[in-house]
Amino acid sequence: MRAFIHRRVAVIAQGIGDVLLIGSVGSGETLRIKQFLTRNGHPFKYLDLDRDADVRQLLDRFRVEPADIPVVICRGEAVLKNPSNQEIADCLGFNKGIDYTHRRDVVIVGAGPAGLAAAVYAASEGLDVLVIEASSPGGQAGSSSRIENYLGFPTGISGRELAGRAYAQAQKFGAEVMIAKGAAELVCENNAYGVRLDDTVTIPARTVVIATGARYHRPSLENLCQFEGAGVYYNATFMEAQLCEGDDVIVVGGANSAGQAALFLSQTVRHVHLLVRSSGLSASMSRYLIRRIEETPTIQVKTKTEIVALEGTEHLERVQWRDSTGAVTSHDLKHVFLMTGADANTGWLNGRVALDAKGFIKTGRDLTKEDLAAARWPADRSPYLLETSLPGVFAVGDVRCGSVKRVASAVGEGSIAVSFVHRALAE
Ligand SMILES: Cc1cc2nc3c(=O)[nH]c(=O)nc-3n(C[C@H](O)[C@H](O)[C@H](O)COP(=O)(O)OP(=O)(O)OC[C@H]3O[C@@H](n4cnc5c(N)ncnc54)[C@H](O)[C@@H]3O)c2cc1C
Repeated sequence: MRAFIHRRVAVIAQGIGDVLLIGSVGSGETLRIKQFLTRNGHPFKYLDLDRDADVRQLLDRFRVEPADIPVVICRGEAVLKNPSNQEIADCLGFNKGIDYTHRRDVVIVGAGPAGLAAAVYAASEGLDVLVIEASSPGGQAGSSSRIENYLGFPTGISGRELAGRAYAQAQKFGAEVMIAKGAAELVCENNAYGVRLDDTVTIPARTVVIATGARYHRPSLENLCQFEGAGVYYNATFMEAQLCEGDDVIVVGGANSAGQAALFLSQTVRHVHLLVRSSGLSASMSRYLIRRIEETPTIQVKTKTEIVALEGTEHLERVQWRDSTGAVTSHDLKHVFLMTGADANTGWLNGRVALDAKGFIKTGRDLTKEDLAAARWPADRSPYLLETSLPGVFAVGDVRCGSVKRVASAVGEGSIAVSFVHRALAE
């Protein structure tokens, strides 16, 4: 395992591999593909159309027009023009050999910290496990630049590193992980469960663990999606930091993720404007982060301030914000990091399990008599800890109502759920 990890780290660092990505530094789609390959730990070589003179020749060789980029060339054979993550996964054989028909002891939906922890514990305890992940392993944690409060890592660990290790660990114990395939429905017929995928394949399951986490809040700015990946980012990792080295940046949000992003970016950018809607940070951010922000002269906190407009053509060029006096001012800033909270990823469940008013999944004692009656709870017993309104279906991590929204708690819940999976299987 040690040799495997070191070898992989080395080939990723040197860009040795069977994938060539040709893209452009200002393109959001290029960033998406880079993120997908990076977060799946797949080594690739990157050539930039805007910076590398020889790239045009290469494009001609593969009969590709500059308008077709980003382009992924797999094994020097297949040329994929602006491919989806699923097309890349299929081309690289990420999901090769996974049997869709076989009934698993447990199907885990989502490969963030909660899902990967459940996979490690379930597989290590001899269960037959399949994990379904809509994007890449690691979830939100995978996008965190440095997690400093996870037990056992006194100097911190990047989310990508933690996710990579957990993914390898789950596979070591025999869990299968399906990449770039989202669950579209939880099927429950005659007390038998199944997870239907986007392409209408339904994977049968004896029990299910839902670990689909949450997704970022998007402020209602008219042209926001135009700049996503082209100046507007939801993650602040090493990759995004490279894009804005030496520039001024905005970080929006008053919670811990915003504080961490501001501190991380302050190491490479010229100046960080931390925009907060409320009148201060103390109600929403950990004290240790507030102290470090106060000690960092290149971070300026602007309270009662919010972005009102984004401007630019292909890439973000200017931002207008309204400050505490109500004045709207325009600033030449090319990078905005939105760190403004999240909603539960429960839309795919279509009300199949009881949810709270905000769409998070109710489990265990949070389920009222009315919830259980509405769900026609069939068992003689009450729901176990982390069990939803369907027996044998569990919810863990950020997707669960009342969860703590931390890596360690997601990991804890994922591993605890497995002991109840055993009980449900024995019933
Ligand atoms: C930038 C940032 C920094 C953070 N820093 C810290 C920190 O320092 N310390 C800390 O303790 N916490 C931190 N957090 C919070 C922490 O990352 C989360 O609490 C944790 O990741 C939750 O884990 P999870 O597995 O429940 O959900 P997630 O991490 O959200 O993972 C859910 C996974 O499910 C997948 N998924 C969603 N829908 C489907 C579907 N329909 N089918 C299949 N898969 C699906 C998603 O693609 C995702 O991979 C941070 C969060 C962010 C965003």
